[in-house]
Amino acid sequence: MTHPMVSLIEGDGIGPEITAATVRAVEAAGGQLTWERVDAGAGAVAKHGDPLPAATIESIKRTQLALKAPLATPSGGGYRSVNVTLRQHFDLYANVRPARTLAGVPSRFQGVDLVIVRENTEDLYAGIEHYIDPRRTAAESIAIITRFGSERVIVYAFEYARRHGRRKVTLVHKANILKMSNGLFLDTGREVAKRYPDIEFDDMIVDATAMKLVTAPERFDVIVTMNLFGDILSDLAAGLIGGLGVAGAANIGDGPSPAAGEPVGARACAMFEAVHGTAPDIAGKGIANPTGLMLSAAMLLDHVEQREAAARLRAGIMAALANAETRTGDLGGRANTAQYTDAVIRALG
Ligand code: NAD
Repeated sequence: MTHPMVSLIEGDGIGPEITAATVRAVEAAGGQLTWERVDAGAGAVAKHGDPLPAATIESIKRTQLALKAPLATPSGGGYRSVNVTLRQHFDLYANVRPARTLAGVPSRFQGVDLVIVRENTEDLYAGIEHYIDPRRTAAESIAIITRFGSERVIVYAFEYARRHGRRKVTLVHKANILKMSNGLFLDTGREVAKRYPDIEFDDMIVDATAMKLVTAPERFDVIVTMNLFGDILSDLAAGLIGGLGVAGAANIGDGPSPAAGEPVGARACAMFEAVHGTAPDIAGKGIANPTGLMLSAAMLLDHVEQREAAARLRAGIMAALANAETRTGDLGGRANTAQYTDAVIRALG
């Protein structure tokens, strides 16, 4: 049997350190993948003069699978976020972020087990912005919400709920103020919900959701929302379970976007990534926590039906996290990246 090819982006900052650790753990867990290493981000600018070289796009087009460490994005100027460009190029419209309390990881809450499905291509992230006058005294950003974009991500959330045995989908919006754009998302949700009588459906305004997530996180199961609210709420949810260092994510599409000249649905493409950034303050010190990328890799293994390897990897991570001796410093532990990874591998079973 040939192993699935995966485009592997090592990324910037702590990226190479957590990538090496993750590859080691995946292989020890019995993951059967063939890595194709490609460049993106600041490292790619230095090497190829381009934050997203054509060879990287070509690789992902071919493999339809990517594991990506964080990439540095300059603030305020410079090149556009490669993360956003990749999501749009491959039309990775659903961002899936599980947030589940991990035994042993210090966090304010216990019993959190929810999944945020964030629309990944529209809303304010369509990148349509301009200054309205030459003196740049005011700027305008346009949020695009389409019925097509809303429907496919909401359908994805319901299908995800069914596949993973979840009971409820909560649609989060601000339709009381943004009556047209957010109203369209909410109306579409109500329509889609009728096709899933086995899954409970409700909706909630985003500000109320932010409060409820910290007062009663166990109330939520699957949340589906638009791009900006999803961005903010998924970091909030990561905070509930002990921070960004332990959060993984999947970006799922049906195929290359029409903008790339290919029909939607021609090929499915999925990109898995840690949700934290490049942590420049600790880069190169060998102390970064690779859990977020490892959990993303476990989602990838599930995606390619290597469920046993995924389960072994998760079990190893849980065991290593349960012990302060083997946790990394950001979680109050004493281990460095390599020692933590060794502990994960020892606990694979
Ligand atoms: P960050 O997530 O890199 O760092 C925030 C804090 O968390 C830092 O103190 C850092 O040391 C710590 N931290 C993050 N990940 C850690 C890990 N795995 N182990 C231990 N500690 C960890 O956020 P930032 O400083 O706002 O961003 C730095 C750079 O990363 C920026 O260029 C930003 O654009 C980029 N970024 C990329 C992505 C991505 O590629 N998906 C996501 C967010 C930020």
